[in-house]
Amino acid sequence: MVFEGLAEKLQNTLKKLKGKGKLTEKDVSEAMREVKLALLEADVNFKVVKDFVKKVKERAVGVDVLESLTPGQQVVKIVNEELTSLMGETQSKLTFASKPPTIIMLVGLQGAGKTTTSGKLAGLLKKQGKRPLLIAGDIYRPAAIKQLQVVGNQVDVPVFTMGDKLSPVDIAKAGVEHGISHGNDIIIIDTAGRLHINEELMEELQSVKAIVKPHEILLVIDSMTGQDAVNVAEEFNGKLGIDGVILTKLDGDTRGGAALSVRTVTHKPIKFVGLGEKLEDLEPFYPDRMASRILGMGDVLSLIEKAQASFDENKAKELHSKMKNQQFTFEDFLEQLQQVKNMGPISQLMEMIPGAGGKQLKNLEMDEKELVYIQAIIQSMTREERQNPAIINGSRRKRIAKGSGTTVQQVNRLIKQFDQTRKMMKQFADMEKTMKKGGKPK
Ligand code: GDP
Repeated sequence: MVFEGLAEKLQNTLKKLKGKGKLTEKDVSEAMREVKLALLEADVNFKVVKDFVKKVKERAVGVDVLESLTPGQQVVKIVNEELTSLMGETQSKLTFASKPPTIIMLVGLQGAGKTTTSGKLAGLLKKQGKRPLLIAGDIYRPAAIKQLQVVGNQVDVPVFTMGDKLSPVDIAKAGVEHGISHGNDIIIIDTAGRLHINEELMEELQSVKAIVKPHEILLVIDSMTGQDAVNVAEEFNGKLGIDGVILTKLDGDTRGGAALSVRTVTHKPIKFVGLGEKLEDLEPFYPDRMASRILGMGDVLSLIEKAQASFDENKAKELHSKMKNQQFTFEDFLEQLQQVKNMGPISQLMEMIPGAGGKQLKNLEMDEKELVYIQAIIQSMTREERQNPAIINGSRRKRIAKGSGTTVQQVNRLIKQFDQTRKMMKQFADMEKTMKKGGKPK
């Protein structure tokens, strides 16, 4: 999980505060020392940590907090607000040109995830009804062009290439002209990276920038490289000028230092985060939601959005009524599993549910192979059993195991998962109800 260590430590520290009826300045100071250590261990920039702790402390030892009825909760609220502010307050959207096409330059070092992210971004914008064009400008990394063609193909976005013999500037220029003449309203240039920052790279990018006049220069950085990523961002911003950052590989980053420091150090917002290798694993970055997630307050809005994106509305309605009338069967379950899988790893979803915290539900994680077993098990059930799982007793379980080539334990586990899923679906249904009352999430 992203921010795993930090989340656990902060939550423990703050839990202690919440447990106390009355807080003294000393309580706050002690807690802030723990917060400071937790942030440093998460590889957050030292200066950022110092400022953060100072700000939280100043606000937390205020009379109105310490004398309030719930001082602990007030401190949690302050930490949440300051974490949000650290990461940029509100979501930073892309700037679209008033007169299309909008030209987006993706820059960054080799291996940061530039090419993958170009494809992801094109796919995301295409889903929003845009007509993107990708330009293959990375002429140095072997296979980068081919890779862009593959991802472009996967998200059904055309890729403009001129091979690797021309200069990146000429390719970018010709690509933009091609996009304009073909009516593309978004042009994404996958520029050439290098292993390290050097003058040649910066000069080349400056020339591309001067020729194509991009509306957005987005720097792609690998969050797993922690403070190195932040240093890279500072350099690119100083030498080239960037409009925002895309932080990749957040799925593998348990510490989160880059995510928490880059905005404060560069004053440039994180616009998107990469959360996996698949092309749909790119999400807009919401500082407020991320802060709530770190503090274990859940991220219901992201969850609802994911659910909305993956579920077919009519199916969902049918399902709701089935759930309400308790007609939810193993057949629905199988279909459901497949849909939930489309939303991403189940453990990742669980992190977003307040209080669920992922851990105790890790047993819900399943891979492709397991789905095959599940299918076999369900197919070995009689119609009656599928519709009324309560009747599946010991001897039936044995028969089902034998019929599906699985073990009784596997059958037991599935039946248990079925129950858990029913509960989870109820949570979805309730959440949707809340959302309908309050309108669409922002
Ligand atoms: P480039 O050299 O900057 O163009 O980097 P690539 O796009 O080739 O990405 C380098 C590696 O990082 C590839 O194996 C990608 O699949 C992987 N990658 C990119 N973004 C993510 C992400 O958000 N999460 C994970 N887990 N892997 C990623």
